Amino acid sequence: MKTKQAQHAFGKQQWWLFVSELVSFAVIFLTLGTILWQVFQPSIYQSVNRGIKVQRQILLGTRVTGGPVSQDAYRSIAFRTSLLVFDANGRLMNGSGTPTAGTPNTNGSSKQPKKNNKNDSQNDFVNTLQQIKLNTTHLDELRDIRVNGQNHFRTMTIKVPATNNALGYAGYYVMIVTNTDSEHVSVDVFKRTLLWTMFTFWLISILLSYVLARLNMRPILRSWQRQREFVANAAHELRTPLTVIQNKLEMMLTHPNDKVMDQTEQITMSLSEVRRLNSLTSDLLLLARSDSDMTQIRTETVAMASFLETVIQPYSEIAASQEKHFVDDIHLDRDLVIDKQRIHQLIVIFLDNALKYTEAGATVSFTAKMAGNRWELQIKDTGIGIDDTDKAHVFDRFYRVDKSRSRATGGNGLGLSIAKWIIDSHRGRVTVTDNQPQGTVFTISFPVSKAKK
Ligand code: ADP
Repeated sequence: MKTKQAQHAFGKQQWWLFVSELVSFAVIFLTLGTILWQVFQPSIYQSVNRGIKVQRQILLGTRVTGGPVSQDAYRSIAFRTSLLVFDANGRLMNGSGTPTAGTPNTNGSSKQPKKNNKNDSQNDFVNTLQQIKLNTTHLDELRDIRVNGQNHFRTMTIKVPATNNALGYAGYYVMIVTNTDSEHVSVDVFKRTLLWTMFTFWLISILLSYVLARLNMRPILRSWQRQREFVANAAHELRTPLTVIQNKLEMMLTHPNDKVMDQTEQITMSLSEVRRLNSLTSDLLLLARSDSDMTQIRTETVAMASFLETVIQPYSEIAASQEKHFVDDIHLDRDLVIDKQRIHQLIVIFLDNALKYTEAGATVSFTAKMAGNRWELQIKDTGIGIDDTDKAHVFDRFYRVDKSRSRATGGNGLGLSIAKWIIDSHRGRVTVTDNQPQGTVFTISFPVSKAKK
C-alpha cells in the first residue's frame, strides 16, 4: 500500500519524467528538422546559383570555375536566365529580358519589348521583368527579389567594365535574373511537409513520453516497495529480541537481591538474544551496503583445495556433535581468483543451513570440482527439503519456509539473500533442486576469473 505522501512524490516524479522526455523528443525533432531544412533549402537553389555564377563569368569573360559547363548545361542555364541591361541611371536598356550572354540585343540603345500576341504569357513574363529596378548596393551578390508580390527571382547585378569588349555590355550594369517560382513552391511544400511531420511526430511523442515515464517509474516503484518491506521486516526482526531482552531485564529488576547465579537462565536467554541481534544487524548492514554498492569485492588468487579444506574442516565435528554425517569431495586442485572472505561466508551459509534443516542421522555432503570451464560447489543434504513453490523464494530477504522453526534454529531469513549477493558479485549462478530420496541440493557455479596483472 502506497502512502498518500509517497503517491504524491511518485506522481511528481512521473510528471517530471514525462516532461523531460517530451522536451527531449521536441529537441530531437527540432534539431532534425533544422538539419533537414539547412541541407535541403540550399540544395534546391544550387543549380540556380551555379547558373547565375556561370553567366557572370561568361559576361565578364573570366574562366568558368567549378568545372566545365557542358553544352546541355549551358543551354539549360541560358534557358532559365535572363539578362537585364541598365545604364548608370538605372534605365533599362533591353526590354525583352530574354537574351542571354553571348546573344546581346543592345548596343546602348533602349528597346521596348515587342508585343507578341501569340504568346501572352511570354509578354506577361517580359512585363514582370521590366518592373525590376536596378539596385547597385549589392553588386556581385546573390539577391532574392519579389515582383508583383508573386513572382520570385534570384538575381545578381554586375558592373561590366568599360574595357570589356565582349558582347556589347561594356560599361553597363547587367542584372542576371533567374525565375525561382518553382524553387519557391518546392521550398514551400517542403517547409509545410516538414512542419506537419514534426508536429505529428511530436504528438506521437506525447503518447510515447507518457508510456516511457510509466515504464521508467516501474523499477523505482519496485525498489521502493522492496526497501519498505525490508525496513518493515528489519524493524520487526529487531523488535522481537529487544522485547525478550527487555522482559528479562525487567524480571531481574523485580528481584534486586538475587545473585547472578539465581538469574543465570534469564541472563543466558538475554545473551542469546543479544547474539541474535548482533548477527542480525551485521547481516542487515551487509545487505544495505550491498544495495548501495558500498561493499566491495576484494579478489585475490587462492589455492582452492587447501582453502576449501580449511573452510569445511569444523563441519565434520559440528555434524558429528549433532549425530549427522558429513562427506566432502574436493577436486579443485587449482588457483582461482576469488574474494576469499566472501566465498568462505557463502559456504558457511549453505553448510549451516544444511545442518539446520536436517534431523539427526542425516548426511550433508560438500563437493567442489570443475564443470566445463566453470568451477562448481555443491551442498547436498538429506533433510526436510524445500517445496517447489518455496524454492522460488528462498533467496528473498526475510523469507523463511517455516517461521517458527527458523526462529528455533536461529535463522532470520537473510542468509540465502546474502549468499545470492555473493554469488552475483562473482558472476555466478545458483540452482536449488531436490535431493533423492529426500533433502535439498544447492549447486553454485562460477566462471573462472583471470588474475589482475
Ligand atoms: P534462515 O536464516 O531462516 O536459514 P536463509 O535465507 O538461510 O534463512 O534461508 C531461507 C529459508 O530457506 C530458510 O528459512 C529455510 O526455510 C529454507 N532453507 C534454506 N536452506 C535449506 C535447506 N538446506 N533445507 C531446507 N530448507 C532450507
